[in-house]
Amino acid sequence: MTIRVAIVGSGPAGFYAADALLRSEAGVRIDLIDRLPTPFGLVRSGVAPDHQKTKRITQVFLRILADPAVRFYGHVDIGADISLDELRASYDAVVLAVGAPRDRRLGIPGDDTNNVFGSGAFVGWYNGHPDFHDLDPNLDVSSTVVVGNGNVALDIARVLVKSPAEMASSDMAPAIQRRIQESPLREVHILGRRGPAQAKFSNPELAEMTQLADARTELVPPDVPDAPPDGLDARDQRRAAKNLAVFRELAGHAPPGARRCLRFRFWRKPVEVLGEETVTGLRAAETRFDADGRLVEAGRSEVIPCGLLISAIGYRAPELAGLALDPDGVRLAHEEGRVAPGLYCVGWCRRGPTGTIGTNKADGDAVARRIGAEVTASGKPGGAGLESLLTARGVRWVDAKGWDRLDAAERAAAASEEAPRRKFVRIADMLAELDLSKQTSRES
Ligand code: NAP
Repeated sequence: MTIRVAIVGSGPAGFYAADALLRSEAGVRIDLIDRLPTPFGLVRSGVAPDHQKTKRITQVFLRILADPAVRFYGHVDIGADISLDELRASYDAVVLAVGAPRDRRLGIPGDDTNNVFGSGAFVGWYNGHPDFHDLDPNLDVSSTVVVGNGNVALDIARVLVKSPAEMASSDMAPAIQRRIQESPLREVHILGRRGPAQAKFSNPELAEMTQLADARTELVPPDVPDAPPDGLDARDQRRAAKNLAVFRELAGHAPPGARRCLRFRFWRKPVEVLGEETVTGLRAAETRFDADGRLVEAGRSEVIPCGLLISAIGYRAPELAGLALDPDGVRLAHEEGRVAPGLYCVGWCRRGPTGTIGTNKADGDAVARRIGAEVTASGKPGGAGLESLLTARGVRWVDAKGWDRLDAAERAAAASEEAPRRKFVRIADMLAELDLSKQTSRES
């Protein structure tokens, strides 16, 4: 008998789980369900708009979607349109690939001041995620602070300082590009609470900053250690050594006439967001390692003036159907990928917000192995059950053909020959394009 599996979330983790199941389970049927009408999750709305090469992985995902055993149900909200229990009753196994969409907060006084955003919201806005199209950050500012020394902070800073020519082949909405380009922004500060050797930037991404055409880069403090400190594991040691070499180069990067300045400020920990109506600055305490290697405040602080503050300090799994989170509130509570009998998790909701797109392959393989060992076909209706529930509730979903049409419309609407597409940023516009109207109470 056929094993019927629903995968909730069609980002990389969802697709790699589908791929692994197709390879390991003869006769499996897989339904990929997404809250949005569009597939690809963070590849579409998280990967930076100027990193189009990274987005080519969607070609692999499209091949998976084209498998006759796989169907796509876009614009179906588990928890709103149908409950997780109803889904579990229809499928032999349900795999949650719902990511970690909630921003971690700074947790310091003033972190809810106007024009302070988490990276999920800010990146979602400039990447055209429908949840954030009306975020409307005020870019009429001369200085921005980006908190965090990971790749997301680097993406945000890069997108804020690249020139129009450097962004021409991106898929950022033209109106948002114009707002960034026309902003009086002069300084972008990237704040790290530790030093250059401890920064989590991937080396190729950091090295990209040496190519910026319209921004000079500075380091505060300016000195770069000769070598990484002892005590890092071998992988971090290699990355740190390469990053230190790039930082040395970045210290002297000054293209003639550069409009903007990117300043890496190390050894600074955010302690207070300043501003009444809107953010005017960030108070940051200087830090150092104590004799036991713990990060401690060094006793001095400074105020970095800024009119826009973005924290890029990590994410948390969503609240879904009352499922428990682990004690640190970041991942779904699970045991080796199993949340409950027949209910599994993969990707960021399983392991936390770490790793590249390919890291999800291992999660997919692991969940396929577990499902193979634990789940047997029980005659549950699978997609037929899902469709009858949705139809009874007047819920119209977007299938793979619908996505093809949205994709074609976006490509046809590209602002220039270089730009790959102009994204739909409102769900209502996507549904109108497909001539689908939805009669559920939830807002489209
Ligand atoms: P990340 O790599 O974990 O970096 C988070 C940063 O936030 C770290 O520098 C961390 O500092 C800092 N931080 C955490 N809490 C803080 C606080 N309270 N105050 C100040 N700083 C704080 O996370 P990410 O940048 O969000 O990226 C998520 C994952 O996606 C990563 O695995 C990343 O590599 C991946 N990604 C990859 C790419 C790419 O390959 N191009 C692009 C984007 C994202 P500490 O180190 O001191 O904890």
